[in-house]
Amino acid sequence: AVRDGDEWVINGSKTFITNGLHCGLIVLAAKTDTSKGAKGISLFLVDSSLPGFKKGKGIKKMGQHSNDTAELFFDNLRVPANALLGEENKGFIYLMQELPRERLGLGSQAVGACEGAMAITADYVTQRKAFGSTIAQFQNTRFKMAELRAQLELTKAYLKQCEARFKLGAMTTEEASILKLMSTELQVKLTHECLQLFGGYGYTEEYPISRFFTDARVQTIYAGTSEIMKEVIARGELGR
Ligand SMILES: Cc1cc2nc3c(=O)[nH]c(=O)nc-3n(C[C@H](O)[C@H](O)[C@H](O)COP(=O)(O)OP(=O)(O)OC[C@H]3O[C@@H](n4cnc5c(N)ncnc54)[C@H](O)[C@@H]3O)c2cc1C
Repeated sequence: AVRDGDEWVINGSKTFITNGLHCGLIVLAAKTDTSKGAKGISLFLVDSSLPGFKKGKGIKKMGQHSNDTAELFFDNLRVPANALLGEENKGFIYLMQELPRERLGLGSQAVGACEGAMAITADYVTQRKAFGSTIAQFQNTRFKMAELRAQLELTKAYLKQCEARFKLGAMTTEEASILKLMSTELQVKLTHECLQLFGGYGYTEEYPISRFFTDARVQTIYAGTSEIMKEVIARGELGR
């Protein structure tokens, strides 16, 4: 973004924007001082109907079809000076301040999805019969469900702790990263294990466990990948 009189002129693009096709107003992060790295980023509140604001085609994904993901393009997009959110060049700090809240939200989402997957799996395995008994009677099924329940309860306890600390304004970036890492990795593992218990039906779109499985996969990727979460946690543990 380059200042031009009473306006800012913005050029660039961003891939992967959740609800990008439907957006009317966006918070845009742009470089306002290219010599300063992260300390040269500012935030702008931008109306998507302005000339120079272009929405790309929706990106086709393997899951999460209920929301769109789009690419946005900014071609000599002019916004008024008062579109600047907060102070110039403080954008990265503002983003960092809000990341723990986003990770907490993803943790809640992961735990909710795990509960849903467990519930429909418990229903299925207690009804479906194979070789004269229900799937639920096989020791493998019982042990799998028990292990998943135990891991889910521990994750729920940590989520509650994070929620309580967030309300006090005390939740740290490391805590939020631990929650995001463990809850989303559990969601991927749990939906994978639950789908297995459905046998062939689990692979069909008729049974919602397949949707739980495909919707889960991106959770360890967006809002900071699991690898980046580990970097953040390691920094707290070992320093830079
Ligand atoms: C469906 C969807 C919706 C999204 N919505 C939004 C949105 O609304 N807004 C938004 O801003 N972004 C959004 N994103 C972007 C998302 O946050 C990024 O895709 C994600 O952070 C990973 O970045 P990347 O794709 O550039 O992967 P890369 O950074 O290219 O990573 C590729 C691989 O390298 C690993 N890697 C990268 N750096 C390191 C490192 N230092 N150490 C070890 N491993 C490393 C990663 O963990 C990963 O495994 C969305 C993405 C998807 C798929």
